[in-house]
Amino acid sequence: MQQVIISVSKSYVHRGRRLRHRQSTKKRWQVYFYELDPTEGKYKMKTRRVNWLQAMYYKTQIRRRYKYYCTECGSAVFAYLKSRKAILECPICGNL
Ligand SMILES: [Zn+2]
Repeated sequence: MQQVIISVSKSYVHRGRRLRHRQSTKKRWQVYFYELDPTEGKYKMKTRRVNWLQAMYYKTQIRRRYKYYCTECGSAVFAYLKSRKAILECPICGNL
């Protein structure tokens, strides 16, 4: 399953339920990501609760959306990458 991690954040589990947070109420890590829906061929945004260790891992996997212009075929496409430098080749024509 193809996933694109876009954000990792902490949020309260019982947010908004009580006027005061109890001592036992913990903040939990949540991962926001796009997942490719194989039936529709589209990316859908999803969230998942993870533990601290997984959150640290996902933080290294966060990607940003960059617009990529290919000088070879003239394509302008959006690519999810860790950094702009990560663009290696055109996804349309394969130009390096
Ligand atoms: Zn191209």
